[in-house]
Formats: sequence, C-alpha cells, structure tokens
Amino acid sequence: MIITRFAPSPTGYLHIGGLRTALYSYLWAKRNGGKFLLRIEDTDLKRNSLEAAQAIEEAFKWTGLSYDGEIIYQSQRFDLYKEYVRKLLEEKKAYYCYMSKEELDALREEQTAKKERPRYNGKYRDFEGEPPLGIEPVVRIKAPLSGEIAFEDGVKGRISFKAEDILDDFIIARSDGTPTYNFTVVIDDALMGITDVIRGDDHLSNTPKQIVLYEALGFRIPKFFHVPMINNPQGKKLSKRDGATDVMEYKNMGYLSEALLNFLVRLGWSHGDQEIFSLKEMIELFNPNNINASASSYNQQKLEWLNACYIKNAPSQRLWNEALNFGLDMRDDKNAEFLADMLRERAKTIIQFVQMAKAIIDEPLSYDEHAVKKFVTALGVTHLKNYAAFLKEYDGGFENVTNEFLEKNALKLKDIAQLIRIALTGSSVSPSIFEVMDVIGLKTVLSRLDKFIDFIEKKGIENE
Ligand code: GLU
Repeated sequence: MIITRFAPSPTGYLHIGGLRTALYSYLWAKRNGGKFLLRIEDTDLKRNSLEAAQAIEEAFKWTGLSYDGEIIYQSQRFDLYKEYVRKLLEEKKAYYCYMSKEELDALREEQTAKKERPRYNGKYRDFEGEPPLGIEPVVRIKAPLSGEIAFEDGVKGRISFKAEDILDDFIIARSDGTPTYNFTVVIDDALMGITDVIRGDDHLSNTPKQIVLYEALGFRIPKFFHVPMINNPQGKKLSKRDGATDVMEYKNMGYLSEALLNFLVRLGWSHGDQEIFSLKEMIELFNPNNINASASSYNQQKLEWLNACYIKNAPSQRLWNEALNFGLDMRDDKNAEFLADMLRERAKTIIQFVQMAKAIIDEPLSYDEHAVKKFVTALGVTHLKNYAAFLKEYDGGFENVTNEFLEKNALKLKDIAQLIRIALTGSSVSPSIFEVMDVIGLKTVLSRLDKFIDFIEKKGIENE
C-alpha cells in the first residue's frame, strides 16, 4: 500500500508551496487506494506555535484535503525518539560526544583557516575511558565517512553524494536530550509506514543523512520525490512581493479552493495540454514520476483565469455560500438564482461577484462622479424623466417597454442607457440594464430613477 504524508513545521501560515506538496502526496495516496497522513513537526518549541498548527488545519479544511487517521504531533513523541537513540547507543551505532562548545569552535576555526569543510573530527567516535566532567554530552551517529550515498529520486533521477563531502558524525540528540530534525523525520516516516516521501527539493541535502539513519536503524528506505520550488515570473524564489503566499489569503481574496488546487497541481505537473482538472480527475491522473524536474513559475493571470472558469461553472448555491464570507446573504432570496446566472460570467473572484451583486441589490448611496460628469446632459435628464413616466404607465417586460419608449421618441438605447445604469447602480459599469431591472423590480427601478433625477436637479448639470 502507498502511504504518503505531509509534514509541515508549524512556524506560520501554510505556504502555497506547502499546499502543493500536500496535494501531490494526497493525490498519489488516493490514486493508489493508499493513505495520506498529516504530521505536525513541532519539536522546535521556540519557533512553533499552536496557532500555526491550527492555521494548517484550517487551510486543509478550506481546501477539502482530508488526511487519514489522527494528526501526529512530534512534540508528543519525545519518549519514542529517546528509545531509538538508546537503541543506537546500545548497538554502538551512535555514541556520546563530550566535546565542549569552545573545543568545537576552535576546531571549526582551524578547519576554516585551512579552507577545509567544517566538520566534527570524530574525537569520541571510538572513545573508551572516563568522559570529562561537567559536560552534558550530545549523541552522534556513526556515519560512513567515505564511499557514496545514492538513491533514485522519482523526480530528479539518480542522486549521489560522496560521504566525505557532506557527512560527518552528525548529532541525533542534543545535550538536553531532545532529538534533532533529521532523526525525528526518519523515526516517524518509518513508524508511520511511509512508502513515498514527496517534499520540497530544499530538503534534498537532508536525504543522505536520513538514509544513513534508515540504514543504522534497519528501516526500509522510502521512495523520495523532491519537488522543485515555485519561482516568481523572473525566475527568483517566490516571495510575498510577488503575490500572496499564505493559502488562506486566497480565500480572503475570493478564490475558490478548487481553482487554487487546480492551479497548484499544474505548477510543476502536466497531463498533455489539459488545464482544468476536477479533484477526481487529478486523483485518476496524477503521478509524481511526471513532476517536472525544473522549477515552475507562478502566474497570477492563470490563477485568475482558472478562478473565473470555476465561478462560471459553480452552482448558484455554492456561489452564495461563498458570498457569505464577504457579508452578503442571498441564500433565501427569490432572485438568487437569476442574479448568480447574470454575474457568474463576469466575476473573476467571489469579491467581484459580491461587489457586482451589491451594486445591483443595494440602492446606490452615491453616484460615480466621473460617470455623472461624462454622461449627464440636460437633454438626457429630460429623456430619463419621460422614460420614468412611461414605465409607470406601461406593463410588460422591461426590454419591450423600453423599446416602445425609444421608438415613440425616436431615440436609441445608447441615448439613455448610461443614465439608467448610473441611476440604478451608482456606476456606469454593470451588467445589462434589463437584467438589473428584472432583479430589482419596477417599484425599485422607479424609486431609483426618481432619486437620481432629484439628485441631478439639486446638483445642477455641468454638461450643457
Ligand atoms: N517539516 C519540514 C518542513 O516543513 C518537512 C519535512 C519533510 O517533508 O520531510 O519543511
């Protein structure tokens, strides 16, 4: 069975790069009928916070990615890690090192001066006898100091490191007994039965150390897939300056989670030239062996385009549920369906959707000054007055009645359309005026027209 995991360190919000590796891990497990586990790597008690762990859970909830079983918190597993440190000590695969900080510093200085790579010199590797007093020892692993450490990466192909270039007897437990990062990852991945590790390629240099530990502990080494970073369009590391990096910010900007997931799955993976993938399709098609070996590039326009596609195809109820996040509750309104049909083609985000809906539903509190200046003329206001009077008298659909009015007065729609638009919504950009009128109804149309005429008459007309 394929078992994957996502193992974030809770140091802040969930980054979109993190969500992407979580998604890849999720898809690969689901595709194989396997399991996807969530492990919070919260051993660094100074840098980790409960809020950050909650932010990760919240982001999972929003995107609908579900994990199997309970969340595993590393901070609750210190006893377990200690047990394995003890085991390695007993088997003489690890040892106590009593080197003081001063000694280590001096060693590093000496090596740097000789232009050598700073590394531990193995002083206590085979030490027997009385340890120095007053030093709380660290525990170091006996790492192979020569030879090659190689593995087949599912994304990058064969990766090999020369032991002497990257390894020394690295620390697995600090002097206060707490285990180090690479150690906890290996113990957990092994005990959780992880078969496929999909993670950012910023972890590539940790992998040989982890392989050393797998071997020392006698655990099976999982498959690794190191996913290249997401860059900005200039090819540099994506940062906040390039756009939002916090997953939940996308919710706040009015993106649908399925659009974000679709966007992320394509950042670094493709299936022919298909752009739109439902979650079901992603599960059917995703394979980490096809992840691009080179970095991908963040493209905001693409995300907007995807979001617009998903909004266009979302059921009205879904859109109104999303609108709740932005303070608009239209769920029980009789016009909800009609209004959604009218707006879903135009809105790129839920925020725009809500703004457009509000512009129609709410009586305008003010009128766009620029539009008033540009479109209001004395003649136009006279037409508008006649039009309001005409509407009062005649029954029928707004479009028919308006056409009749235009015909009788030898006018064209463009002679009055912008004024009607401003009167009804406050601005000269809105969907078709007839659709707006259908939503708000005759009574509201008349009162908004009257109010606008009143406003213009009080204010005076600048365009004669
Ligand atoms: N906790 C690590 C991080 O947040 C991930 C470790 C891993 O995936 O192996 O970068």
